[in-house]
Amino acid sequence: AADAAHFLHPFTDHQGLAAKGARIITRADGIYLWDNDGHRILDAMSGLWCVNVGYGQRALVDAATKQLQTLPFYNAFFQTATPPAIELAELLAEVTPPQFQRVFFSGSGSEGNDTVVRMVRRYWDILGQPQRQVIISRHNAYHGSTMAGASLGGMAGMHAQGGLPIPGIVHIGQPHAWERGAAMSKEEFGVVAARWLEAKILEVGADQVAAFIGEPVQGAGGVIIPPASYWPEIQRICDRHGILLVSDEVICGFGRTGAWFGCETFGFRPDLMTFAKGVTSGYVPLGGVMVGDRVARVLVEQGGEFAHGYTYSGHPVACAVGVANIRLIQQLDLVRHVHDDVGPYLAERYAELATHPLVGEAETCGLMGALQLVDGKSGDGHGRAFDPALEVGMLCRGHCFREGVIMRAVGDRMIIAPPLVITRAQIDEMVALIRRCLDLTLADLQARGCVH
Ligand code: PMP
Repeated sequence: AADAAHFLHPFTDHQGLAAKGARIITRADGIYLWDNDGHRILDAMSGLWCVNVGYGQRALVDAATKQLQTLPFYNAFFQTATPPAIELAELLAEVTPPQFQRVFFSGSGSEGNDTVVRMVRRYWDILGQPQRQVIISRHNAYHGSTMAGASLGGMAGMHAQGGLPIPGIVHIGQPHAWERGAAMSKEEFGVVAARWLEAKILEVGADQVAAFIGEPVQGAGGVIIPPASYWPEIQRICDRHGILLVSDEVICGFGRTGAWFGCETFGFRPDLMTFAKGVTSGYVPLGGVMVGDRVARVLVEQGGEFAHGYTYSGHPVACAVGVANIRLIQQLDLVRHVHDDVGPYLAERYAELATHPLVGEAETCGLMGALQLVDGKSGDGHGRAFDPALEVGMLCRGHCFREGVIMRAVGDRMIIAPPLVITRAQIDEMVALIRRCLDLTLADLQARGCVH
């Protein structure tokens, strides 16, 4: 009752939730959560794509406790710094691709993307090209919920509220091969989708374009895994027109795709990289932007004061947890665990789910997975989209909650991103739960006469 009376939840119909009441999560360990009724739930979403090292890691708790006791806060504005912020900056330079030697800290991914907008426009200002204002992004992208983050994002529902996008941000289509049908091969489609960027650059005028931003794999948009041909072509187009390339690694970073960063999995070389979530495994809030050589040289050597920053830029407790988290990822060899072991195993198990009558497509990338739920699966297995009014994804999600596994529904696309510490046996447990929920969803639809 107190929750309903006082707590306005993010992305929630407040009245609708108040009527049924929120599920209260009270504790967690490893890859499992418990609610206040004592139900155990396998968290196949890592909280909100962030608890990469799993729950209950002592090293992160100890790092936070020690820093809280020593120096809970000091800023980085007054020509000052704190040891954890310096240590994390140095460690990030070590684990990110070699062009990244500098970092600007924020408190979240959204703030990180606000920094990206300020920084790319500042970069072109300093270079005497202030007209280069336009940032190109993609429909169905998610880059956060601040004014700039939501504008960069391509969520129609968000743009419909509050006069977004802000000026100077435009969008192209997403590289979602399934949505486009089987008219061409995936790899052909990847090149076609990348060339939408070139068409947009030419439409806007290349000398007006500051940057292109994209998630290596679109997360909140539904785990949209681009064909392998997509990112190299995007890179070529950015290079040809001299525009900055920004990789939003808020979800893909820190091992999720089976490399330290998604840009490494997909073979491109960003100038800026936004991160958050996995940098602390979500134990405390932290985000930021890795600044590549090309931008750093201009910003640092020619830029003078950059009039931008947050109270919590380089928060010592958050940074101490970040250091402990990255060290733990290294110690447990989690990136290799994903790349060589549980990533391929998840792919194998998901390929089996593709034969389920409701599943039109089952895809994975590292430890992210998507199941496209379809009606009337035909010989080619592609199937048709369900009537959105049936809310098939939400139906399936409801079964998941009741059966004890958290999956997220993006329309009729069921997605997962489990903690990187997951084992093969736990993947078996997760896939069995998912299959059961697919069966229950199918049975519901059959009972209502909604499948063909
Ligand atoms: N970028 C991406 C790719 C994200 O997935 C998210 C959050 N889901 C954000 C930015 C925003 O991060 P935050 O919610 O920490 O502001």
